[in-house]
Amino acid sequence: MLQEPIRTTVVGSYPFPGWLELCGLHLDELGPDDLEEALHDAVTAAVTDQVRAGLDVITDGEQGRFDFNLSFYARFEGLELERESPRRFGPPAHDQRGRHEIVGQLSAPRGLGAVEEFERLRELAPSGPMLKASVPGPYTLAGRIVPSGAYPDRWAVAEALVASVQDELVRLVAAGCAVVTVDEPSMSCYAYREDTARLVDLFNRTVAPVVGRCYLGTHLCFGNYKGRAASKRRYAPMFPAFLELAVDELHLEMASREFSELELIGGVAAEKHVAVGVIDVKSTYLETPEDVEERIRACLDHVPPEKLAVAPDCGLSQTARWAARAKLEAMVEGARRVRATL
Ligand SMILES: [Zn+2]
Repeated sequence: MLQEPIRTTVVGSYPFPGWLELCGLHLDELGPDDLEEALHDAVTAAVTDQVRAGLDVITDGEQGRFDFNLSFYARFEGLELERESPRRFGPPAHDQRGRHEIVGQLSAPRGLGAVEEFERLRELAPSGPMLKASVPGPYTLAGRIVPSGAYPDRWAVAEALVASVQDELVRLVAAGCAVVTVDEPSMSCYAYREDTARLVDLFNRTVAPVVGRCYLGTHLCFGNYKGRAASKRRYAPMFPAFLELAVDELHLEMASREFSELELIGGVAAEKHVAVGVIDVKSTYLETPEDVEERIRACLDHVPPEKLAVAPDCGLSQTARWAARAKLEAMVEGARRVRATL
């Protein structure tokens, strides 16, 4: 199925049901069985929406990451978790996310939780769609940790996280996960001012043990916290360096950028599959199947259909659920119409 022309896929996250967010406010009142039941039900809802839309590749919607205490950072030893953000009022933006202090050697002896998420997804998903797991890469994870002591800068923090991410990837593949994404949106956000060869080297060393053992992708966007971008939204500074990323599929955000720099996907497709964001997750405008068809045809001016996948620009977690559902349905229908003409 991964050779399917114009494969329909998603980036990891999906909106939480309202009641799951309510659960997050009452975590102290839930026992472990209550929590697991809530997660089962939430993943079932996310899977149902994706399967109904008709996607070729689905995820668990990252429903288990609905609370700060269930996030990756709480699984690290050597971190003191900072709940309070530096700015608490005013318009939502990335500067309202708290950062964590290093208080010891960084390690994640219990893993990052993605394996358990994948196993839950496999239990609940019907046969048919491919199942994808997402793990954030070390450079992106490092962005919310304050460098200090033995870890003097972001690079040093990222290096310290490589082993934990790598271990999670190896265990995911061992558990039977065939489609894995290592999300590194911070690499795309800061490529314009960082050493791109160094970013690629960090990524490739992280994924090295699973290259060739699964279908590996990465997601490169420009930020979507509270539906806000966080960077100079240009892909040009990443290339050609990022063509060396050791992945089978590169995912790029295009819809919210009005398909600026679309011609770049031709160069990507010469090396690997390219997944193009054809759905704007930041807008409540509901793309129609005709919109999607037109966008896919614009992509096909640059890449052959067997090298192209389509997806939303980013995870759908910041999009209202009713809109997310409608957008996925339009995306799949638009792709189906183009496929029918191939
Ligand atoms: Zn993203």
